[in-house]
This record gives sequence, C-alpha cells and structure tokens, in this order.
Amino acid sequence: MMEDTADAVVIGGGPAGLMAAEVIAKGGAKVIVCDGKPSLGRKFLMAGKSGLNLTRTGDGDFLAAYTEAAPHLSEMIGAFGPQDVMVWAQELGQPLFTGTTGRVFPQVMKASPMLRAWLARLADAGVQVRTRHLWQGWEDGALVFSTPGGPRRLHAPVSVLALGGASWPRLGSDGMWTEALSRHGVRLAPFAPSNAALRVGWSSHMEAHFGQPLKSVALAAGPYNSRGEAILSQEGLEGGGIYAVSRGVREGHALSIDLVPDLSAEAIAAKLARVKGKPSQSARLRKALGFGPVKIALVNEYMRPMPQDFLHVAHALKSVSPNVAGVSGIENAISVAGGVRWDQVDPDLMLKAIPGAFCAGEMLDWEAPTGGYLLTACFASGRWAGQAALRRLQS
Ligand SMILES: Cc1cc2nc3c(=O)[nH]c(=O)nc-3n(C[C@H](O)[C@H](O)[C@H](O)COP(=O)(O)OP(=O)(O)OC[C@H]3O[C@@H](n4cnc5c(N)ncnc54)[C@H](O)[C@@H]3O)c2cc1C
Repeated sequence: MMEDTADAVVIGGGPAGLMAAEVIAKGGAKVIVCDGKPSLGRKFLMAGKSGLNLTRTGDGDFLAAYTEAAPHLSEMIGAFGPQDVMVWAQELGQPLFTGTTGRVFPQVMKASPMLRAWLARLADAGVQVRTRHLWQGWEDGALVFSTPGGPRRLHAPVSVLALGGASWPRLGSDGMWTEALSRHGVRLAPFAPSNAALRVGWSSHMEAHFGQPLKSVALAAGPYNSRGEAILSQEGLEGGGIYAVSRGVREGHALSIDLVPDLSAEAIAAKLARVKGKPSQSARLRKALGFGPVKIALVNEYMRPMPQDFLHVAHALKSVSPNVAGVSGIENAISVAGGVRWDQVDPDLMLKAIPGAFCAGEMLDWEAPTGGYLLTACFASGRWAGQAALRRLQS
C-alpha cells in the first residue's frame, strides 16, 4: 500500500477544510488536503448558483441564529465573524455588496472566482491537494483512503476532518464518514434536513401555479417565523421564507401562512367591506387586497367554504394552513442538523476519542437558517480547528 507523511492532513476540501488548511500552511506546516471528489469546493460552488451569501451584517444578535449551538460557536465566531469574513473575501479580490437585509454577497454573486483565487493562494502557501482520495477511517494510526490507484495511507500527527453534512450527497458530502467515526466510539446526533422544502399535498387546481412565487407573506411554524416569499412546486413549497421555518415543521409544528401580514384582521375586513357591488370572492380579494392568481389559488385551495362575514375571512387569510406532509428529504436540503456531538470534542474542536483529530464545519452538530450564517460558521470553525491543530503540532 502507498504510504506518505505530512505535518497535517485536512480531509474535505469545502469552505471549512480550506480555511483550516490555510491557517495551518500559514503557520509553516506541510499540509495536504484530501477530498473524495475529483475537484474541491463543489457545494461551495453550488451555493454560488443562487447567489453566494457569505455572511450577514447588521444583525445585532448574529449568534442567536445558531440557537442551542450558539454557546459552542460563540468564541469561534467572535474570533472570525461577519466583518472578518468580509475582509477575508475582499483580500481574495472579491468586491462585495450588502443587500437590504444585511446579507453579504460577492458582486459577481457566484463562488467560482473566489474559489479559484483561494485555491491559487493555498497553492502558493504550499498546500498540496489530493483529489479522488476517499477517506475510509484510521488503521494503526494512519489515515486510510481509497483512490483510483488503490488504497493509500497518510501519516500525520494532526488532522482536520471537514467532511460536511449529508445533504446534496452528489457534491461529495454524503455523510458516509459517520461509520468511521462511530467505529472509533465517537457519538453522533442523527442527521436531519435543515433549510429544507416542505412537501404539500396539492389538489390538481394548483398545477397551473407551480414555479410561481407567493410574495409578501409571513410564515410561521412553532417558534420559527419568517417574512418573504415561498415558491410553489409540484412537491410543495420551497424558497428562503420556507427554509427558515422548515425546522418548526420538522419538529412537529403546523405551517401557518399570513397572506396579508401588514394589515390587522380588522383593517382587512374593512377593506373587503368597502368593495362595491357583489363581486365574486376572488374579485373582492383582488380589488380590496391586490391578491394575484397565486394567493387566490391558495385561498380557493384551503378556505372553502369561505366564511360569510368579512372579519372571519380576514382572520382566515392571516392563518392559512396548507396540508403539509412533512419536510422534504435530506438529499435536497440546503444543510443538515446533527453530526458530531459537542460533548465529543474539546474546546479546540479535537475529538476526545481520537487525540490529534479535529472537526470543523457542517459535520459538527449545529444548524442555522440560510442568510450567510452557514458559511460564516464553516469558515470560523475551520479556522479555529486549523489554529488548534497547528498549536498541537508546534507543541
Ligand atoms: C444549494 C445550496 C445553496 C447554499 N447556499 C448557501 C449560501 O448562500 N450561504 C451559506 O452560508 N450557505 C449556503 N449553503 C450551505 C453551504 O454551502 C454549506 O454549509 C457549506 O458548504 C459546508 O461547508 P463544509 O466545508 O462544512 O462542507 P462541504 O462544503 O460539504 O465540504 C465537505 C467536503 O468533504 C468531502 N468529503 C466528504 N466525505 C469525504 C470522505 N469520506 N473522504 C474525502 N472527502 C470527503 C466532500 O467531497 C466535500 O468536498 C448552500 C448549500 C446548498 C446545497
């Protein structure tokens, strides 16, 4: 079997792993990045397809987005938070812009120029890359990979695992690493879809609206709520507003849609009453509230028979409850909940069961809404694990 040595091995060439490699290489150590796929950063590139939301500014309580994982991430994000992410991206030659809600994107929106510049900078710093190296686990202290040329072993005193979650498995993060960690006694929280679409049992009347946005609505599921839009699809509902509340549905709460979030029920009822003549319900909703075809279709789908008095109609418009069958599968989710439990790593993110092996990124047990929180935590934890690995190496 082919054998090789390095000061440090980073497994997983996504944003967390590359950040760890950068920090270790800057410290003067020989670092090899291994990835099972033929190229690095595939999910990062996919994230750029719909606008690479790197981070978020102006959120007074940025950490709150990480809910129960916030205490674990707070030092890391304190050390490398939204402002640091922005400076770092700009140093990679990426002019940024901040949207109205504080979300920060590269001006080109996509990830490919940034990833190219980053990989070039890593190569200049001496980082070696081994693609098509699928990590299988440890054997006699060595990291074992299956490669097209047969099995290979790498020996290194420190390693950073940045193997991602288990959504979009075709991009490389397929969660198969859980078997190797479990074999070594590392306890894991089960994966669950996070920032996922919702499955809805539509009637055939809704087909005409698939692909259309439901705009200016407020969504809620249990304690999670969002303002924004949802896209109707054959499977159900998707889009940023839905992802933000999908955790609530996953936890068993019903989805509620407020079709007129800016008006009270009384104000809606007054507007409905002011429409003259005896128009159809749809025409009244169009005239009084400016409803378009998608909102009207939703009313027809879920508000039949329509209440008779306007105040009842108004209340119903503010809490439409679609027939949600559940959260869509993990393979299509933006991210995952679950992964390496926090009690399995020390404050340096080193696995207690495997001294010298650190974890970073989405493979750790945290979740957050979309909006730049995901990448920020991946960068911050990658940097944190890389710094700790370097310290251990140097001591
Ligand atoms: C469609 C989409 C849009 C998104 N948009 C955004 C956004 O705008 N903003 C945002 O903040 N986040 C976004 N995300 C989420 C973000 O991309 C991820 O949270 C982030 O990429 C996770 O980084 P990571 O380094 O932890 O893991 P990953 O990026 O998943 O990288 C893990 C790497 O490990 C490799 N690997 C896995 N197993 C093995 C193994 N056994 N051996 C060797 N290599 C292995 C994989 O090939 C992969 O390269 C989006 C995600 C998707 C799917």
